[in-house]
Amino acid sequence: PRTIRIVVLGAGGVGKTAMAVRFVTKRFIGDYDPNLETIYRHTGFVDDELINFEIMDTAGQQDEHSLTLEDKCRWGEAFIFVYDVTDKYSFVELDRLKFVASYSHSKSRLNFTPCWVLVGNKTDLADHERIISTEEGRERARELSCHIFREISVKESMDEASEVFEDLWREFARR
Ligand code: GDP
Repeated sequence: PRTIRIVVLGAGGVGKTAMAVRFVTKRFIGDYDPNLETIYRHTGFVDDELINFEIMDTAGQQDEHSLTLEDKCRWGEAFIFVYDVTDKYSFVELDRLKFVASYSHSKSRLNFTPCWVLVGNKTDLADHERIISTEEGRERARELSCHIFREISVKESMDEASEVFEDLWREFARR
């Protein structure tokens, strides 16, 4: 099967691990060690083609580890930026993460334009706690040159997380 290497980036607590675990296991698991760092591997069909997804979780990332973050970004072919629709900081943090990812990728020897995806998570909390509107999210996706924008709830939805990864594959495969 063909393989895609995906890096998931976002502020702490936005649901990066939950999203990857949801895709790989179909389950929602509430709490993780914040310093857990893993590559999740999942093989599944997208449009009748068997695809190997390799997903790098970047839990626990901090400025002092930015070299490590750069290494991960060099490894990636596709990037999912995640924020929490109830967390302003996670939205602001996107600029820095996109900068690091673009910069690192430009220094890698992979001479193609990567796929960029923006995901606003935790829409199940949106009724009462939403701070970032859908329109602001969509606008930011344009500013960050993201090819795909989605709002999801990893917690409430069985499928939305998987759809992000599947759409990312479709975009990647079109290149
Ligand atoms: P990470 O630091 O970005 O990897 O975030 P985690 O995956 O560890 O999730 C951080 C917290 O947010 C955990 O307590 C999760 O249970 C919770 N969480 C993740 N996704 C959702 C969601 O869609 N809705 C709600 N309400 N909580 C979520």
